[in-house]
Amino acid sequence: MDSLTLIIAEQDGSTTSQELLELVSFARMLPGGGNPTIVLVGTARKDRAEKTAATTGCPVLALTGDHLGLYNPEAFCDAVLEALGDTEPAWICLAHTSTGVDLAPRLAVNLGATCITAVEGISGTTLTRAVCAGRYCADFTPSTACTVVTVLPGAFPPLPASTDTAGPVEHRAVSPGPCRSRTLGIAENTHRDSSLKDAEVIVSAGRGVGTRENISMIRELAGVFPRAAVGASRPVCDLGWLGYAHQVGSTGQTVSPKLYIACGISGAIQHLAGMRGSQLIIAINADPDAAIFRFAHYGIVEDLTTFLPILLEELRGG
Ligand SMILES: Cc1cc2nc3c(=O)[nH]c(=O)nc-3n(C[C@H](O)[C@H](O)[C@H](O)COP(=O)(O)OP(=O)(O)OC[C@H]3O[C@@H](n4cnc5c(N)ncnc54)[C@H](O)[C@@H]3O)c2cc1C
Repeated sequence: MDSLTLIIAEQDGSTTSQELLELVSFARMLPGGGNPTIVLVGTARKDRAEKTAATTGCPVLALTGDHLGLYNPEAFCDAVLEALGDTEPAWICLAHTSTGVDLAPRLAVNLGATCITAVEGISGTTLTRAVCAGRYCADFTPSTACTVVTVLPGAFPPLPASTDTAGPVEHRAVSPGPCRSRTLGIAENTHRDSSLKDAEVIVSAGRGVGTRENISMIRELAGVFPRAAVGASRPVCDLGWLGYAHQVGSTGQTVSPKLYIACGISGAIQHLAGMRGSQLIIAINADPDAAIFRFAHYGIVEDLTTFLPILLEELRGG
Protein backbone atom coordinates (compact mmCIF):
# COMPACT_ATOMS: atom_id res chain seq x y z
CA MET A 1 0.00 0.00 0.00
CA ASP A 2 1.69 3.24 -1.06
CA SER A 3 -1.21 5.67 -1.20
CA LEU A 4 -0.85 8.97 0.67
CA THR A 5 -4.56 9.01 1.40
CA LEU A 6 -6.62 6.17 2.82
CA ILE A 7 -10.36 5.83 3.33
CA ILE A 8 -11.50 3.33 5.93
CA ALA A 9 -14.95 1.82 5.43
CA GLU A 10 -16.76 -1.21 6.68
CA GLN A 11 -17.57 -4.16 4.42
CA ASP A 12 -20.87 -4.99 6.05
CA GLY A 13 -21.55 -2.28 8.56
CA SER A 14 -22.41 1.33 9.00
CA THR A 15 -20.59 3.06 6.13
CA THR A 16 -23.15 3.31 3.33
CA SER A 17 -22.23 3.53 -0.35
CA GLN A 18 -23.36 7.17 -0.36
CA GLU A 19 -21.01 8.03 2.52
CA LEU A 20 -18.17 6.23 0.76
CA LEU A 21 -18.70 8.26 -2.43
CA GLU A 22 -18.71 11.45 -0.33
CA LEU A 23 -15.46 10.36 1.34
CA VAL A 24 -13.81 9.82 -2.06
CA SER A 25 -14.90 13.34 -3.13
CA PHE A 26 -13.48 14.77 0.08
CA ALA A 27 -10.24 12.75 -0.12
CA ARG A 28 -9.60 14.05 -3.63
CA MET A 29 -9.79 17.64 -2.34
CA LEU A 30 -7.00 16.97 0.18
CA PRO A 31 -3.49 18.11 -0.72
CA GLY A 32 -1.95 15.06 -2.42
CA GLY A 33 -5.31 13.29 -2.12
CA GLY A 34 -5.02 11.95 -5.70
CA ASN A 35 -6.59 8.54 -6.00
CA PRO A 36 -7.16 7.40 -2.42
CA THR A 37 -6.96 3.75 -1.43
CA ILE A 38 -10.18 2.44 0.08
CA VAL A 39 -9.63 -0.01 2.91
CA LEU A 40 -12.67 -2.19 3.54
CA VAL A 41 -12.68 -3.99 6.86
CA GLY A 42 -15.01 -6.89 7.58
CA THR A 43 -15.77 -10.45 6.68
CA ALA A 44 -14.99 -11.60 3.14
CA ARG A 45 -17.52 -9.93 0.80
CA LYS A 46 -15.87 -10.15 -2.61
CA ASP A 47 -18.82 -8.45 -4.29
CA ARG A 48 -18.55 -5.29 -2.14
CA ALA A 49 -14.81 -4.89 -2.82
CA GLU A 50 -15.19 -5.36 -6.59
CA LYS A 51 -18.22 -3.07 -6.72
CA THR A 52 -16.44 -0.37 -4.72
CA ALA A 53 -13.43 -0.50 -7.06
CA ALA A 54 -15.74 -0.29 -10.09
CA THR A 55 -17.87 2.62 -8.87
CA THR A 56 -14.98 4.74 -7.55
CA GLY A 57 -12.03 3.80 -9.77
CA CYS A 58 -9.97 3.73 -6.56
CA PRO A 59 -7.68 0.90 -5.45
CA VAL A 60 -9.44 -1.24 -2.85
CA LEU A 61 -7.78 -3.24 -0.09
CA ALA A 62 -10.23 -5.63 1.56
CA LEU A 63 -9.09 -6.76 5.00
CA THR A 64 -10.90 -9.90 5.97
CA GLY A 65 -11.05 -12.23 8.91
CA ASP A 66 -13.71 -14.15 10.83
CA HIS A 67 -13.03 -11.93 13.86
CA LEU A 68 -14.05 -8.86 11.82
CA GLY A 69 -17.67 -9.92 11.32
CA LEU A 70 -19.05 -7.45 13.85
CA TYR A 71 -17.51 -4.05 14.48
CA ASN A 72 -15.03 -4.17 17.34
CA PRO A 73 -12.83 -1.11 17.88
CA GLU A 74 -9.72 -3.01 18.94
CA ALA A 75 -9.95 -5.66 16.21
CA PHE A 76 -10.69 -3.12 13.45
CA CYS A 77 -7.91 -0.79 14.60
CA ASP A 78 -5.39 -3.66 14.79
CA ALA A 79 -6.40 -4.83 11.30
CA VAL A 80 -5.77 -1.38 9.81
CA LEU A 81 -2.47 -0.97 11.68
CA GLU A 82 -1.33 -4.42 10.48
CA ALA A 83 -2.21 -3.52 6.89
CA LEU A 84 -0.38 -0.20 7.14
CA GLY A 85 2.86 -1.85 8.22
CA ASP A 86 5.57 0.73 7.59
CA THR A 87 3.40 2.84 5.29
CA GLU A 88 2.85 6.36 6.58
CA PRO A 89 -0.26 7.83 4.99
CA ALA A 90 -0.73 11.59 5.16
CA TRP A 91 -4.51 11.33 5.55
CA ILE A 92 -6.84 8.64 6.87
CA CYS A 93 -10.52 9.46 6.27
CA LEU A 94 -13.59 7.88 7.83
CA ALA A 95 -17.28 8.77 7.75
CA HIS A 96 -18.54 10.60 10.86
CA THR A 97 -20.77 7.68 11.82
CA SER A 98 -20.90 5.93 15.18
CA THR A 99 -18.20 3.54 13.93
CA GLY A 100 -16.05 6.27 12.38
CA VAL A 101 -16.20 8.40 15.52
CA ASP A 102 -15.24 5.37 17.61
CA LEU A 103 -12.37 4.17 15.40
CA ALA A 104 -10.76 7.48 14.37
CA PRO A 105 -9.29 8.55 17.75
CA ARG A 106 -8.02 5.03 18.43
CA LEU A 107 -6.20 5.00 15.09
CA ALA A 108 -4.86 8.51 15.70
CA VAL A 109 -3.47 7.64 19.13
CA ASN A 110 -1.75 4.54 17.75
CA LEU A 111 -0.25 6.46 14.83
CA GLY A 112 0.67 9.60 16.79
CA ALA A 113 -1.59 11.46 14.37
CA THR A 114 -3.78 14.55 14.63
CA CYS A 115 -7.49 13.68 14.82
CA ILE A 116 -10.06 16.12 13.40
CA THR A 117 -13.68 15.03 13.55
CA ALA A 118 -17.02 16.07 11.95
CA VAL A 119 -15.29 17.92 9.12
CA GLU A 120 -17.65 19.77 6.78
CA GLY A 121 -15.34 22.12 4.87
CA ILE A 122 -11.84 22.16 3.41
CA SER A 123 -9.43 24.71 2.03
CA GLY A 124 -5.93 23.37 1.47
CA THR A 125 -4.85 21.74 4.72
CA THR A 126 -7.38 23.75 6.72
CA LEU A 127 -10.38 21.69 7.78
CA THR A 128 -13.58 23.25 9.06
CA ARG A 129 -16.07 21.86 11.54
CA ALA A 130 -18.95 23.23 13.57
CA VAL A 131 -18.48 23.81 17.30
CA CYS A 132 -20.76 24.90 20.18
CA ALA A 133 -23.77 22.94 18.85
CA GLY A 134 -23.33 24.40 15.37
CA ARG A 135 -23.31 28.08 16.43
CA TYR A 136 -19.75 28.65 15.22
CA CYS A 137 -17.35 27.18 12.69
CA ALA A 138 -13.74 26.43 13.65
CA ASP A 139 -10.77 25.92 11.33
CA PHE A 140 -8.08 23.38 12.14
CA THR A 141 -4.71 22.73 10.54
CA PRO A 142 -2.95 19.48 11.44
CA SER A 143 0.54 19.66 12.88
CA THR A 144 1.55 16.03 12.39
CA ALA A 145 2.62 14.11 9.29
CA CYS A 146 -0.47 11.89 9.49
CA THR A 147 -4.00 13.17 10.11
CA VAL A 148 -7.10 11.10 10.86
CA VAL A 149 -10.32 12.81 9.76
CA THR A 150 -14.00 11.98 10.14
CA VAL A 151 -16.22 13.58 7.51
CA LEU A 152 -19.79 14.62 8.23
CA PRO A 153 -22.25 12.69 6.01
CA GLY A 154 -23.90 15.04 3.54
CA ALA A 155 -21.18 17.72 3.77
CA PHE A 156 -19.51 16.95 0.44
CA PRO A 157 -21.10 16.05 -2.89
CA PRO A 158 -20.77 12.35 -3.60
CA LEU A 159 -18.44 11.27 -6.38
CA PRO A 160 -20.64 10.44 -9.39
CA ALA A 161 -20.76 6.63 -9.37
CA SER A 162 -19.31 4.54 -12.21
CA THR A 163 -15.95 5.30 -13.74
CA ASP A 164 -14.39 4.01 -16.94
CA THR A 165 -11.72 2.01 -15.18
CA ALA A 166 -12.21 -0.05 -12.05
CA GLY A 167 -9.47 0.26 -9.45
CA PRO A 168 -7.35 -2.78 -8.54
CA VAL A 169 -8.62 -4.98 -5.70
CA GLU A 170 -6.52 -6.82 -3.16
CA HIS A 171 -7.99 -9.19 -0.58
CA ARG A 172 -5.84 -9.69 2.47
CA ALA A 173 -6.62 -11.96 5.41
CA VAL A 174 -5.65 -10.52 8.77
CA SER A 175 -5.19 -12.62 11.86
CA PRO A 176 -6.86 -11.85 15.20
CA GLY A 177 -4.65 -10.27 17.83
CA PRO A 178 -5.25 -10.11 21.58
CA CYS A 179 -8.47 -8.17 22.25
CA ARG A 180 -9.70 -6.95 25.63
CA SER A 181 -13.30 -6.78 24.44
CA ARG A 182 -15.58 -8.95 22.34
CA THR A 183 -18.61 -7.67 20.41
CA LEU A 184 -21.50 -9.96 21.32
CA GLY A 185 -24.06 -8.57 18.90
CA ILE A 186 -25.38 -5.50 17.17
CA ALA A 187 -29.15 -5.05 17.13
CA GLU A 188 -31.10 -2.98 14.61
CA ASN A 189 -32.77 0.04 16.22
CA THR A 190 -36.35 -1.10 16.67
CA HIS A 191 -37.56 2.51 16.99
CA ARG A 192 -37.11 3.27 13.30
CA ASP A 193 -40.28 4.13 11.46
CA SER A 194 -40.67 3.89 7.71
CA SER A 195 -43.16 6.78 7.54
CA LEU A 196 -40.32 9.31 7.87
CA LYS A 197 -38.39 7.64 5.07
CA ASP A 198 -41.34 7.69 2.70
CA ALA A 199 -42.54 11.22 3.51
CA GLU A 200 -42.22 13.96 0.92
CA VAL A 201 -42.69 16.61 3.60
CA ILE A 202 -41.41 16.43 7.17
CA VAL A 203 -42.39 18.94 9.83
CA SER A 204 -39.99 18.53 12.73
CA ALA A 205 -40.32 19.68 16.31
CA GLY A 206 -37.35 20.84 18.36
CA ARG A 207 -37.05 21.79 22.00
CA GLY A 208 -38.09 25.31 21.01
CA VAL A 209 -41.66 24.02 20.64
CA GLY A 210 -41.71 24.49 24.39
CA THR A 211 -44.32 22.01 25.64
CA ARG A 212 -45.78 18.59 24.85
CA GLU A 213 -49.11 20.27 24.11
CA ASN A 214 -47.55 22.41 21.36
CA ILE A 215 -46.68 19.25 19.40
CA SER A 216 -50.30 19.32 18.23
CA MET A 217 -49.45 22.41 16.13
CA ILE A 218 -46.62 20.47 14.49
CA ARG A 219 -49.00 17.58 13.74
CA GLU A 220 -51.55 19.99 12.35
CA LEU A 221 -48.99 21.67 10.07
CA ALA A 222 -47.84 18.26 8.81
CA GLY A 223 -51.48 17.37 8.17
CA VAL A 224 -51.72 20.19 5.64
CA PHE A 225 -49.47 18.30 3.22
CA PRO A 226 -50.11 14.95 1.54
CA ARG A 227 -47.43 12.31 2.29
CA ALA A 228 -46.17 14.22 5.31
CA ALA A 229 -44.69 13.00 8.57
CA VAL A 230 -43.74 14.48 11.92
CA GLY A 231 -40.04 14.47 12.84
CA ALA A 232 -38.26 15.48 16.01
CA SER A 233 -34.92 16.42 17.45
CA ARG A 234 -33.51 14.18 20.11
CA PRO A 235 -34.43 16.29 23.16
CA VAL A 236 -38.07 16.17 22.07
CA CYS A 237 -37.89 12.37 22.12
CA ASP A 238 -35.88 12.32 25.36
CA LEU A 239 -38.58 14.51 26.96
CA GLY A 240 -41.20 12.02 25.79
CA TRP A 241 -43.10 14.60 23.71
CA LEU A 242 -42.73 12.30 20.70
CA GLY A 243 -41.55 8.68 20.37
CA TYR A 244 -38.04 7.82 19.18
CA ALA A 245 -39.53 6.64 15.89
CA HIS A 246 -39.71 10.33 15.00
CA GLN A 247 -36.09 11.21 15.79
CA VAL A 248 -34.06 12.64 12.94
CA GLY A 249 -30.30 12.77 13.16
CA SER A 250 -27.11 10.82 13.57
CA THR A 251 -28.64 8.53 16.17
CA GLY A 252 -32.12 8.75 14.61
CA GLN A 253 -33.11 8.50 10.99
CA THR A 254 -31.52 10.05 7.94
CA VAL A 255 -34.15 11.65 5.72
CA SER A 256 -34.15 13.54 2.43
CA PRO A 257 -37.73 14.76 1.81
CA LYS A 258 -38.70 17.37 -0.76
CA LEU A 259 -39.49 19.78 2.09
CA TYR A 260 -38.19 19.82 5.68
CA ILE A 261 -39.67 22.34 8.09
CA ALA A 262 -37.56 22.66 11.25
CA CYS A 263 -39.56 24.23 14.09
CA GLY A 264 -37.57 25.39 17.12
CA ILE A 265 -34.49 23.34 16.19
CA SER A 266 -31.07 24.90 16.82
CA GLY A 267 -29.18 23.02 14.08
CA ALA A 268 -26.73 20.87 16.04
CA ILE A 269 -24.50 18.73 13.82
CA GLN A 270 -26.12 15.54 15.06
CA HIS A 271 -29.51 16.79 13.84
CA LEU A 272 -28.12 18.22 10.60
CA ALA A 273 -26.47 14.87 9.83
CA GLY A 274 -29.94 13.40 9.46
CA MET A 275 -31.69 16.08 7.39
CA ARG A 276 -29.28 18.27 5.48
CA GLY A 277 -29.89 16.19 2.35
CA SER A 278 -33.48 17.54 2.22
CA GLN A 279 -34.29 19.31 -1.05
CA LEU A 280 -35.79 22.41 0.59
CA ILE A 281 -35.26 23.38 4.23
CA ILE A 282 -37.39 25.98 6.01
CA ALA A 283 -36.40 26.87 9.57
CA ILE A 284 -38.54 28.69 12.09
CA ASN A 285 -36.58 29.89 15.09
CA ALA A 286 -36.76 32.81 17.50
CA ASP A 287 -32.96 33.23 17.52
CA PRO A 288 -31.68 34.95 14.35
CA ASP A 289 -28.21 33.50 15.04
CA ALA A 290 -29.40 29.88 15.29
CA ALA A 291 -27.07 27.56 13.35
CA ILE A 292 -29.99 26.03 11.45
CA PHE A 293 -30.27 29.25 9.42
CA ARG A 294 -26.87 28.54 7.84
CA PHE A 295 -28.33 25.44 6.24
CA ALA A 296 -31.92 26.53 5.63
CA HIS A 297 -33.05 27.78 2.22
CA TYR A 298 -35.65 29.95 3.94
CA GLY A 299 -35.50 31.20 7.51
CA ILE A 300 -38.33 32.62 9.58
CA VAL A 301 -37.25 34.46 12.75
CA GLU A 302 -40.37 34.22 14.87
CA ASP A 303 -41.65 32.84 18.15
CA LEU A 304 -43.33 29.56 17.19
CA THR A 305 -46.06 29.95 19.73
CA THR A 306 -47.34 33.09 18.02
CA PHE A 307 -46.30 32.31 14.43
CA LEU A 308 -47.68 28.77 14.06
CA PRO A 309 -51.26 29.56 15.20
CA ILE A 310 -51.38 32.43 12.67
CA LEU A 311 -49.91 30.25 9.90
CA LEU A 312 -52.37 27.43 10.63
CA GLU A 313 -55.25 29.89 10.68
CA GLU A 314 -54.17 31.17 7.26
CA LEU A 315 -53.81 27.64 5.90
CA ARG A 316 -57.30 26.75 7.18
CA GLY A 317 -58.47 29.67 5.09
CA GLY A 318 -59.47 31.65 8.15
C1 LIG B 1 -23.81 11.26 20.45
C2 LIG B 1 -24.96 12.22 20.22
C3 LIG B 1 -25.93 11.90 19.30
C4 LIG B 1 -26.98 12.77 19.07
N1 LIG B 1 -27.92 12.43 18.14
C5 LIG B 1 -28.90 13.33 17.85
C6 LIG B 1 -29.85 13.04 16.84
O1 LIG B 1 -29.86 11.98 16.20
N2 LIG B 1 -30.79 13.98 16.58
C7 LIG B 1 -30.84 15.18 17.23
O2 LIG B 1 -31.73 15.99 16.93
N3 LIG B 1 -29.96 15.45 18.20
C8 LIG B 1 -29.00 14.55 18.53
N4 LIG B 1 -28.12 14.85 19.52
C9 LIG B 1 -28.36 16.06 20.34
C10 LIG B 1 -27.81 17.30 19.67
O3 LIG B 1 -26.46 17.51 19.99
C11 LIG B 1 -28.59 18.55 20.13
O4 LIG B 1 -28.53 18.63 21.52
C12 LIG B 1 -30.05 18.53 19.69
O5 LIG B 1 -30.15 18.29 18.31
C13 LIG B 1 -30.69 19.87 20.02
O6 LIG B 1 -32.05 19.76 19.81
P1 LIG B 1 -32.94 21.05 19.59
O7 LIG B 1 -32.40 21.82 18.43
O8 LIG B 1 -34.36 20.62 19.55
O9 LIG B 1 -32.76 21.84 20.96
P2 LIG B 1 -31.93 23.13 21.33
O10 LIG B 1 -30.52 23.01 20.90
O11 LIG B 1 -32.21 23.40 22.74
O12 LIG B 1 -32.55 24.27 20.43
C14 LIG B 1 -33.84 24.80 20.59
C15 LIG B 1 -34.00 25.92 19.59
O13 LIG B 1 -35.31 26.41 19.68
C16 LIG B 1 -35.28 27.82 19.57
N5 LIG B 1 -36.44 28.34 20.31
C17 LIG B 1 -36.66 28.36 21.63
N6 LIG B 1 -37.89 28.86 21.89
C18 LIG B 1 -38.44 29.16 20.70
C19 LIG B 1 -39.70 29.70 20.31
N7 LIG B 1 -40.64 30.02 21.21
N8 LIG B 1 -39.93 29.89 18.99
C20 LIG B 1 -38.99 29.58 18.06
N9 LIG B 1 -37.79 29.05 18.38
C21 LIG B 1 -37.52 28.83 19.68
C22 LIG B 1 -33.97 28.24 20.21
O14 LIG B 1 -33.55 29.50 19.70
C23 LIG B 1 -33.05 27.10 19.81
O15 LIG B 1 -32.37 27.40 18.62
C24 LIG B 1 -27.06 13.99 19.77
C25 LIG B 1 -26.07 14.31 20.70
C26 LIG B 1 -25.03 13.44 20.93
C27 LIG B 1 -23.96 13.83 21.90
